[in-house]
Amino acid sequence: MRLFVERETDPQETRAPMLPADVRGLVELGAQVEVETGIGQSINIPDMEYEKAGAQVSRDRRASLSNAEMVLRMSVPSSEEIQCLSQGCIHISCMAPFNNAKVVRELAAGKVSGISLEMVPRTTIAQKMDVLSSQANLAGYVAVILAAERQGIIFPMMMTPAGTIQPARVFVIGAGVAGLQAIATAKRLGARVDAFDVRPEARDQILSLGAKPLKVDLGETDRTKHGYAKKLTDEQLQKQRQAMAKQCAQSDVLITTAKVFGRKAPQIVTNEMLDGMKPGSVVVDLAIETGGNVEASELGKEIEREGVTIIGLPQLQRRVPLAASRMFSSNLFNFVSHFWDKETRRFVLKTDDQIIQDCLITHEGRIVNTVVKAAIK
Ligand code: NAD
Repeated sequence: MRLFVERETDPQETRAPMLPADVRGLVELGAQVEVETGIGQSINIPDMEYEKAGAQVSRDRRASLSNAEMVLRMSVPSSEEIQCLSQGCIHISCMAPFNNAKVVRELAAGKVSGISLEMVPRTTIAQKMDVLSSQANLAGYVAVILAAERQGIIFPMMMTPAGTIQPARVFVIGAGVAGLQAIATAKRLGARVDAFDVRPEARDQILSLGAKPLKVDLGETDRTKHGYAKKLTDEQLQKQRQAMAKQCAQSDVLITTAKVFGRKAPQIVTNEMLDGMKPGSVVVDLAIETGGNVEASELGKEIEREGVTIIGLPQLQRRVPLAASRMFSSNLFNFVSHFWDKETRRFVLKTDDQIIQDCLITHEGRIVNTVVKAAIK
């Protein structure tokens, strides 16, 4: 089976979709792998390393796309790229299908089987292919490192002959994958950490990392069948803000990660709450790409408001490109190998498998994913 791994075209992208070790893995499965020249340039891996792993290096993207039976890449394909794909080609990437209706329709029209990795279910068996988790984990880590760098104080307690420095106080809102990693990283640096999540089961996870769960009584909070939090009512959100204002005011660092799948992020931290924070405090809004949790945060910007630094930079995992590429590459390899038939040496698109059912967006000329279809109508 002919696989083509495409180099990312977004100038902001620092990651590579696949590393030579995983190319070797695919070649050992019996795949013919082609990679686009310069694929590992941003992480200092030359084409030669991919050749050593058994890949052909392509210098003609259009020809490689037309020839491929499967295309692997990190993000959304352009219209021109989709036009190059042959009918029946399997295209695997992060497609952000809810925000890219045009791409979804074009893939369907081109009879391409479009797989969106963000839609892989959050189940135990699919954990190894879960790009949302692997990348969110790193974003949570980077958020803390960035905040520590911007803060004028240090995170650990220090008792020295010159006096005692109290540990920094960090407050994390949303204890999913990114939030839990932010808590763990801040704890490792010695901060005193408080955290909150609307999902009651997050309480034990917060405690297990040595942080203190903030008590807020919001009444019943709902979840989707995949374990994602559902949108709070306006009344619940107002209660949450009131309960958190004091905690924000006491914190040196606030990291927000609260998201609601397929929807705009809830606005939790109002300007009034920011007004109550100490000058010199740092806020990192990890939900910025879906609208942000902080009223004043701006996408792609780091701003200062009354002495409080508010960081709204997207895709923080791009700041640790080697680690992020390694994880993404491994997720891609695990996805392909999970459905690989060693005898026929081909990927089998098992449309009756739960993982495929959740992440296959277009197939045989149709939008087959009902959730996406309903959302982009
Ligand atoms: P996410 O990025 O969608 O959201 C981040 C967190 O924000 C979630 O924990 C959510 O509960 C929380 N949140 C939403 N609204 C909030 C509010 N108003 N206030 C405070 N917090 C709020 O979540 P995620 O990190 O992708 O995780 C989603 C779910 O999937 C979680 O239940 C997680 O445990 C689960 N998960 C399971 C697996 C697996 O079993 N393989 C892997 C990863 C995640």
